[in-house]
Amino acid sequence: MQLGAARFVAGETLDECVVVLRRLNEQGLYANTTLLGEGVLEPGETESVVAAYRTIVDRIADEQLRANVALKLTHLGLSIDEELAQRNVAELVEHAAARGNFVRIDMEESRHVDATLRIYRRLRESGHENVGTVLQSYLFRTENDLAALLPLAPNLRLVKGAYLEPPEIAYPRKRDVDAAYVRLLETSLRADGFTAVATHDETLIEHTISFAEERAIPKERFQFQMLYGVRTRLQLDLVQRGFDVLVATPYGPEWYRYLMRRLAERPANVLFLLRNLVRG
Ligand SMILES: Cc1cc2nc3c(=O)[nH]c(=O)nc-3n(C[C@H](O)[C@H](O)[C@H](O)COP(=O)(O)OP(=O)(O)OC[C@H]3O[C@@H](n4cnc5c(N)ncnc54)[C@H](O)[C@@H]3O)c2cc1C
Repeated sequence: MQLGAARFVAGETLDECVVVLRRLNEQGLYANTTLLGEGVLEPGETESVVAAYRTIVDRIADEQLRANVALKLTHLGLSIDEELAQRNVAELVEHAAARGNFVRIDMEESRHVDATLRIYRRLRESGHENVGTVLQSYLFRTENDLAALLPLAPNLRLVKGAYLEPPEIAYPRKRDVDAAYVRLLETSLRADGFTAVATHDETLIEHTISFAEERAIPKERFQFQMLYGVRTRLQLDLVQRGFDVLVATPYGPEWYRYLMRRLAERPANVLFLLRNLVRG
């Protein structure tokens, strides 16, 4: 946290995170929270991750926060065994349903996309409605993945993609990633289901608004999502304009990899952290 991670991470404990979630709610923002962690290789460790998420879901319900959870399948054992991750996430989705909550399954590196989409599909086909996942516009495959999911009326968060992927499978140029995002966005908004437009890119945000207006797509069918600590003013401006905005608000002691991804996205963030170090 001394590094300045507190700009992007809502503390190391659930108690610290709850304070932030409540403040966001008071500002008219929805939130989701994530216990940071990924790439677990010990089956026993996934049991404590499941227990921690059960506690989070209970706490959100008890404190009546407008927040859901977003989690990574490799935190629940996907790198060990797909069935283990499936069982763990199914348990959490059931628990969330019992407490009136929703689980978003994040998308990780490209080697996990097939398994993540299989697990999402199995959850939906076994009757779970309170679960959604994520598609990344930088991957060539994603337009096909979206088409395959649409019959489920999916709840999808669209992102550009945060990992370093090879040019054989992902667009290397930003403008191609952005153009693919527009195609996914329009397809998803036109179809049944719910679209979470997760970007800080104002051009894409304004495009979403005008596209939805032109086609009379109700505001309840989509939501903007941004990261805690990024474009805070824009988040509040959109709330003022009457749109739903959710702030992804992670916490936990394992914040290092998350922070590194945020720095890689925007070199100016490195300067921000260096200034903190010098001041500290
Ligand atoms: C709610 C949410 C959930 C996400 N979930 C996933 C996921 O499951 N899987 C995945 O691969 N990726 C995920 N991401 C990350 C995403 O893929 C991008 O890496 C990230 O959002 C940056 O892309 P952008 O769409 O904001 O556009 P960009 O074109 O990268 O940025 C547009 C503008 O936003 C601002 N900005 C962007 N990033 C930062 C930053 N880190 N710090 C400060 N300013 C910034 C800058 O002003 C920039 O000019 C998620 C992003 C969000 C918002």
